[in-house]
Amino acid sequence: MSAADGAPTRVLIHGASGRMGQALLRLASEHPGLAIVGAVTGRTPAQRVVGNVPYFGAKELAAVPAFDVAIDFSLPEGFSPMLEVCLARGKPLVSGTTGLHESQRQAMQQAAQRIPVLWASNFSLGVAVLEDLVQRASALLSQWECDIVESHHIHKKDAPSGTALTLGQAAEHGGAQPRYASLRAGDIVGEHLVQFTGMGERVELVHRATNRDIFARGALHAARRLASRAPGLYRVKDLLD
Ligand code: NAD
Repeated sequence: MSAADGAPTRVLIHGASGRMGQALLRLASEHPGLAIVGAVTGRTPAQRVVGNVPYFGAKELAAVPAFDVAIDFSLPEGFSPMLEVCLARGKPLVSGTTGLHESQRQAMQQAAQRIPVLWASNFSLGVAVLEDLVQRASALLSQWECDIVESHHIHKKDAPSGTALTLGQAAEHGGAQPRYASLRAGDIVGEHLVQFTGMGERVELVHRATNRDIFARGALHAARRLASRAPGLYRVKDLLD
């Protein structure tokens, strides 16, 4: 599964012209152990090579060069073809694409029997900690009302956000029954407020992302680790060390 000893891990970026794709391409140079070998955009790219990186359109996905791990931050319609290519080539997939359908989640679980797969609604360390705090707070405050309010930039398509749903699952595990509210405004990178409301008091747990580089760095770090793992479904926490 992994690159030859000492050789950099060859990475394919899927969703390359998007906000996250561009951050991944820019920050990959911080990782001497990673080499970007291809970039895939939704539409046929205007430029075929940018820097040293060859670009491909979504319809040319089968023609991408050999890679050790793919990183996908695209849209739900882009996720399934990328998963298929990873399966066909026996290569790991890191994906942060949100708004996936139930059938896509099931396909991901099946694929994980044959390749390493890491899907996460959020690649930031702060949200990993928040998830833990929410589960603990909801176990202590399960009789209180629980609301999750998420705010994102106006271009975000899915609502509630994938992170809000992940935090909601953590709240449910603790015993709360969360409600969701979504706000789309300006250029907000991502804010999640989990509010527990009792009579005469409330507890607020909040995470604010001010720069999407945190997600890109987390995904690049995970990709390096995932490339040498056995098939399975991984979480960000599994690859932190
Ligand atoms: P964006 O709209 O800026 O970019 C989407 C990219 O996907 C574009 O490059 C587009 O060309 C490409 N694309 C569209 N359809 C495609 C297809 N069929 N095949 C291949 N590529 C296709 O979006 P963004 O802000 O970069 O976010 C991308 C995804 O990542 C969204 O689902 C978003 O919610 C998610 N996201 C996740 C995290 C996380 O930490 N997990 C963080 C930020 C964003």
